Amino acid sequence: MTSIVLFGSTGSVGVNTLRVVEAFPGRFQVAGLTAWKNHRVLEKQIRKFKPRVVAVADEQVAGQLRRRCRDLSVTIGSGVEGMVQVASMPEAQVAVSAIVGAAGLIPTLAAIHSGKQIALANKETLVMAGELVMREARARGVSIIPVDSEHSAIFQLLHGQRRQDLRRLVLTASGGPLLRLPLGRQARVTPEQALRHPNWKMGPKITIDSATLMNKGLEVIEARWLFDVEPARVDVVIHPQSLVHSLVEYQDGSMLAQLGMPDMRGPIAYALSHPERLALPIPSLDLARAKSLTFEEPNRKQFPCLGYAYDALRAGGTMPAVLNAANEEAVWAFLDRRIPFTSIPRVIRAAMKAHDVKPVYELSDVMAADRWARDRARRAMKITGQDKGVART
Ligand code: MG
Repeated sequence: MTSIVLFGSTGSVGVNTLRVVEAFPGRFQVAGLTAWKNHRVLEKQIRKFKPRVVAVADEQVAGQLRRRCRDLSVTIGSGVEGMVQVASMPEAQVAVSAIVGAAGLIPTLAAIHSGKQIALANKETLVMAGELVMREARARGVSIIPVDSEHSAIFQLLHGQRRQDLRRLVLTASGGPLLRLPLGRQARVTPEQALRHPNWKMGPKITIDSATLMNKGLEVIEARWLFDVEPARVDVVIHPQSLVHSLVEYQDGSMLAQLGMPDMRGPIAYALSHPERLALPIPSLDLARAKSLTFEEPNRKQFPCLGYAYDALRAGGTMPAVLNAANEEAVWAFLDRRIPFTSIPRVIRAAMKAHDVKPVYELSDVMAADRWARDRARRAMKITGQDKGVART
């Protein structure tokens, strides 16, 4: 029996993780859950999966939830402290890190410190603090197993191969809902249009990141740390059908690809059971019906965010954290209709240009860069007041 703690249980990956757990009751159990504010969904999850400890974003939501769960024996905490308590639960062996955005970093690090294996869906953890997180994981003998579909594909394709034979990684990108939209019409894109992802059903932040291709940029950074390869050996190709989840090329020119129906339960289950494969109720991919798989070069003029991610990796130190924080602020501002779609890359570029790169020795270096970049981005967008701080999912 594998006992898991799940960060971000009411989000898209969180819900799919619980679907996998539910399908294999003799195999997985849930020790702890964390969520942001969605206490209605969380209450249902608590009743169904019976975690011992739960944490939510703030004390007010925790109070509401405690009242609703009076008849249950569950401890409900709040804030960073509550999340860290769940992350440190001694009876769990695995932490599934599925919080969206920078807020995932601290609980993930806490789980690493308590020696748990990490099933990582929160790519921002590695974008912000990849070197630090991987160093901490190595020091504690913790493996970080990707849940992101592209990285899960690569993880599967590297299995049983010799590392020294690797030539490059190729991440596939759907291109998002705006792939065919002429550059001149981007300025008038509404949140509704940008949220219409053609192949994957995901949360709003990652769907906007797919529309700007920043999601792929963040994934390049994630791959760099996860698989310890130089950025120059991580390539991106547009593949609108989202059936090839990524590829690995070996030095004999042989390319291996991983294919399947786009369903997050696949990567989640593999992260929890590898190298064993669980019998999931995911339909077979019908290649004859799919007919064609197409690939094209990403248009870097149309999608400048992808290039900014490579720039941030090259600059190193605190720059990827700045890229990530400025992007988060810009994406939420776009979703709130406070800036146009085309301002997202502008806000990021301005923050990166103004940033003095510093080396990352510890978590506080990353958090300082994160705060600096959010502040810089908000000032650039003339947004002041409310929702300060990194925790927003
Ligand atoms: Mg992905």
